[in-house]
Amino acid sequence: MTTWDVCVIGGGPAGSVCALRLARLGHRVVLVERRVFPRPHVGESLSPGVPPLLDHLGLRQALDGAVPSPAALVRWEDATVRLVEPDPRAVTVDRGRFDRALLSAARAAGVSVLQPVRAVRPRRGPAGWEIPAGLDVLRARFLVDASGRRRASGGTTTATGPRTLTLHTTWRGDGPTRLGTGPRTWCWGAPLPGGAFRAMAFVDADLLRAHAVERLYHHLLDSTGLFPDRPSAGAVAVCDATGYRDDSPVTEDSVKVGEASFTLDPLTSSGVDSALQSAMAAAVTAHTLLSDGDRAAALAFYRDSRDRAVARHTTWTAAHYHRCEPHRDQPFWLRRAAPAPPTPVTPPLTPDHLRRPVRLSSDAAVVPTPCPVGDLVTMRRALTHPALPAPIAHLGDAELAPLLDCVKHSASLADLLRTWSARLPAGRAEATAEWLYGKGLLVTD
Ligand SMILES: Cc1cc2nc3c(=O)[nH]c(=O)nc-3n(C[C@H](O)[C@H](O)[C@H](O)COP(=O)(O)OP(=O)(O)OC[C@H]3O[C@@H](n4cnc5c(N)ncnc54)[C@H](O)[C@@H]3O)c2cc1C
Repeated sequence: MTTWDVCVIGGGPAGSVCALRLARLGHRVVLVERRVFPRPHVGESLSPGVPPLLDHLGLRQALDGAVPSPAALVRWEDATVRLVEPDPRAVTVDRGRFDRALLSAARAAGVSVLQPVRAVRPRRGPAGWEIPAGLDVLRARFLVDASGRRRASGGTTTATGPRTLTLHTTWRGDGPTRLGTGPRTWCWGAPLPGGAFRAMAFVDADLLRAHAVERLYHHLLDSTGLFPDRPSAGAVAVCDATGYRDDSPVTEDSVKVGEASFTLDPLTSSGVDSALQSAMAAAVTAHTLLSDGDRAAALAFYRDSRDRAVARHTTWTAAHYHRCEPHRDQPFWLRRAAPAPPTPVTPPLTPDHLRRPVRLSSDAAVVPTPCPVGDLVTMRRALTHPALPAPIAHLGDAELAPLLDCVKHSASLADLLRTWSARLPAGRAEATAEWLYGKGLLVTD
């Protein structure tokens, strides 16, 4: 019986991209997907980061049929409705087609796809994983759980937000994207490729216990004042949108990716972006573990990058809820909102700074940190500081630690710039100093 290097459960964006990367790295990969594709899926609005990621992976064809995201009517901070132009890189896709294209690319990269086949709870056997899938039991050295909110491999989670449900349906129509608020909801609607319009209302889960779904949905949309016309809306579907993170996203022989690892508040509209990023991080982690690379570095890299993503998104989301003035005292908003942490403002560097002594901020440190280098995770010296979303090992293609080592040997900022100019392309020494100074990492006394 075949023992696969890797078994991936789930053929959404996270599973397909992780499987594809591992197959391209030479591993024998099997992927199990329970649904026939194309299958319907919410989450059609792709954030600006997705097209460049797909380009990087050579998967641009997954965006065939995508349309640029239209301008949006937004009522959020106050009662004013504003027309907001989108980032030109943001697109709207048919998720059924998009997910099918990614899965086809994985197949073309050499992944064996079993579909429609449902995997049930995997178990560790004497020689690796045993995954009951349809009538077979698959065997694999490494397990990737990419089964989304179903989380086929189980384990415990911690909530990152209040229990939230989404009520949604579609109708024939177009028009601008709409984002609006009511006392007990925020609602989002957007035209889809193919002439349908989908609108979603997000509510506290307990509200649904007290009200009939259809009436509640229409009442919530009405409360925003942004959805006046709803010609023959279809049946209203309900899905879970509660935020959580898995308590054990990576082990020596398994990893959870995409929504199996953590979910974002849909307010970010970046679930697919985050699923793709976690798939790429999971692939280098699994490759390092399967190739007997630095195991401790691989485990720490995946855990830390996942935890940073959760923290970044949670802070951003709470601050965004906090910006909604009209309903700030309502329980729905109080449960979700928190002010953004203050961002220190540093005045720009001037010629006067050049003569001054220079040093690294006392909160900054250059410490060994797990980093993906090529296709493997290894330890690299990287700069850490509370103002940085993640440790930094490189600025562009320059290693940062050797540059920072020069700081303590420099009598002044001018002296430091002379040393860096000898090592960096023209103009980069000044740009690097300005960037570090602006973040409060480099200090002139
Ligand atoms: C209401 C709502 C709105 C959203 N809107 C957006 C948005 O506008 N933009 C955005 O980027 N993101 C959005 N998201 C999030 C986005 O849809 C997800 O982040 C993304 O789909 C996660 O991808 P994934 O591959 O992890 O999981 P999924 O896409 O859910 O894929 C998991 C796959 O695993 C399969 N599977 C599950 N169990 C098994 C099993 N036992 N055996 C075999 N196969 C199995 C499933 O059939 C599925 O195909 C939204 C989410 C919600 C809840």
